[in-house]
Amino acid sequence: MNSFARSVLRQLAPVLTVAAGWTVCAAEPEPPIVTPGTNGSPPSDAIVLFDGKDLSAWRTVEGGPAKWKVEDGAMVMNGGNIMTREEFGDIQLHIEWAAPTKIEGQGQGRGNSGVYFQGRYEIQVLDSYQNKTYPNGQAGAFYGHNAPLVNASRKPGEWQTYDIIFRAPKPGPDGKVIPGSLTVFHNGVLIQDHIPVKGDATAAAQFSGVVPKGPLLLQDHSNPVRYRNVWVRKLN
Ligand code: MG
Repeated sequence: MNSFARSVLRQLAPVLTVAAGWTVCAAEPEPPIVTPGTNGSPPSDAIVLFDGKDLSAWRTVEGGPAKWKVEDGAMVMNGGNIMTREEFGDIQLHIEWAAPTKIEGQGQGRGNSGVYFQGRYEIQVLDSYQNKTYPNGQAGAFYGHNAPLVNASRKPGEWQTYDIIFRAPKPGPDGKVIPGSLTVFHNGVLIQDHIPVKGDATAAAQFSGVVPKGPLLLQDHSNPVRYRNVWVRKLN
């Protein structure tokens, strides 16, 4: 290469570098912008299911208006299971809950409720603060399937958070189920680490069968558990 060619290459180098970089960038779509919330409040692309005001996103299993009470910005268990009007496949869920401040009952009878994905797969809600029960039935358990890794419970009456990633099981081409998964953080602590969801509905589930979409359901287990700040982000 003569000196003239080297000089031309040197001058073109920045242009060629930018062009090469642009080609690499152009091959991948730019991630969408999401404005995050603060202190658990919903990000900009969330579907808000309860903002402390009304139960318009919820219904009874029979299809009527949800009968739970709204008190002090929380919805309080009352009069049967409730489920979302909208149905979901894979989602990220944020939900806050509190067991009754006044301790009544023990084991499964203390602050029992539950979050059912697709009305089928329950992450247990229970007052598990100094309250023994079987491990795969305590707070944060994939009920009847998998105990939480640790017990990260707060005291009864205190607000607690679940942040959950649910991937729905799917029908496979050979008739077998392609497992989904559940990953759960309880008060910010990892308690379920991408465990398989094989399509077996939890005991006492409202529905069964592997489906692409289903409602989020909150259980009435006769204990006045409260919920607030409920939102999801669709992942598919
Ligand atoms: Mg339950």
